[in-house]
Amino acid sequence: MQQDGLWQAVLGEIELSVSRGNFVTWFKNTCLLKQVDDTVVVGVPNIFIKQQLERKYSALIGDTLKKNGVAAAHIEYKIFAQAARRGQSSESEMSLGEPQPADGQARSAAIKPSGKAAGNSLAHSYRQGLNERYTFDNFIVGASNELAFAACQAIAQQPGSRYNPLFLYGGVGIGKTHLIQAVGNFLAARQPNARVLYISTEQFVQEFVDALRFRKTADFASYYRTADVLIVDDVQFIAGKEKMQEEFFHTFNALHQANKQIIISADKPPKDIPTLEDRLRSRFTGGMSIDMQIPDFETRCAIVQTKAQGHDMVLRQEVVEYLANNVQTNIRELEGVLNQLLAYCEMHELEPTLVIATSLFGSSKSRPKHLSAKQIIERTARHFQIPIEDIVGPKRDKDIVVPRQIAMYMLRNELHLSFPKIARELGRKDHTTAIHSVDKIERQSRIDATLRNAISEIKEHLYV
Ligand code: ADP
Ligand code: MG
Repeated sequence: MQQDGLWQAVLGEIELSVSRGNFVTWFKNTCLLKQVDDTVVVGVPNIFIKQQLERKYSALIGDTLKKNGVAAAHIEYKIFAQAARRGQSSESEMSLGEPQPADGQARSAAIKPSGKAAGNSLAHSYRQGLNERYTFDNFIVGASNELAFAACQAIAQQPGSRYNPLFLYGGVGIGKTHLIQAVGNFLAARQPNARVLYISTEQFVQEFVDALRFRKTADFASYYRTADVLIVDDVQFIAGKEKMQEEFFHTFNALHQANKQIIISADKPPKDIPTLEDRLRSRFTGGMSIDMQIPDFETRCAIVQTKAQGHDMVLRQEVVEYLANNVQTNIRELEGVLNQLLAYCEMHELEPTLVIATSLFGSSKSRPKHLSAKQIIERTARHFQIPIEDIVGPKRDKDIVVPRQIAMYMLRNELHLSFPKIARELGRKDHTTAIHSVDKIERQSRIDATLRNAISEIKEHLYV
């Protein structure tokens, strides 16, 4: 259809101008419903995406439509159930471990399985320890987790062949369990006969201790060594447990040799897990290791709104932002705060407002209102031991430019300033410099631990 072709072209361009996470979250499942005169109606899967597109992306959509020959004076968004299903119909069934054609593989990274479909067939499948609550569908993708998300989706499409093992690590409450469970749920739904085993390391250790006690280690071993997919959560708890490590080493090898998928999570990278046997450490790093980080402000807002929606509530943006600011490091805690607010409002038959949220949780402690652009710039300059005049001045030496870029990144993330304002604060005329700097630091910080540390040190000084 002509309309479809137009929209695909628009999406293709938008994909290049926003981050992967934003594209997958906001645009992936949209379609063009109608184009009459100068009005364009875009189909979206839910109210939240509708709001976000209206609020943040209408100009981009309008511009991109224009580039494709459609001058739309009005863009409307309509919730359209089928929008959510688009892009999935062409997916073919496949069996575990079977190689997929290359193009299917490329497409697969962006396709989200439907949570419902997963739920339905789970009842008949062989699975251990999986919680249907965790799906790809209800996982919000942002810069902090898009790599992990893409890797998990790739594995879900083609287990055992790439990224084996997948080692996912990062702090508490940032979505590791959710993602690795989502892989399990997806596979269990597709392959009801596959043995998909999820186990927390604590339980793993407990079972092993019991097996030792009752002289059933052979049963224990054969049970886990016949898994098609083994998901081991929080493997840091294996530290210091020598016998368990040995057992796991053999299980690991047996599965790996048989091309069975292994997924492991931990709160730190293998090299930092104390008393981890070297041979296990090297096994863990033999596939793909991905560092998951704390979701940024924008992603936290999206999570809050999506979870609220799960309770049939649409929160005002100011309430969403307040909550996302109030809890910055742990999504489990963020959910807890949201649930408290919703429960309170339900009990008192009130609509959740900023006033109520503030009265329940106080004014945002970790993000003081008085924090200014100047303080951020000063702090950054001080951290790198360079004079303020230099950071806001014309010098282009590398040891000045990088701190300047970091300061821009901080202004964006901590104060949500506009790019022109950020440029002005740092004595730059052109706001595209600010866009590039923020983007660069965002990308770089994903792979550069030193940079990440610098940023968190600066933040710590700002917020204490
Ligand atoms: P971890 O295993 O890293 O400690 P979890 O996976 O248990 O964290 O996540 C804690 C809670 O936060 C879960 O309820 C999970 O569903 C939710 N959560 C974390 N990240 C996301 C996300 N990106 N989108 C939606 N929910 C998330
Ligand atoms: Mg966990």
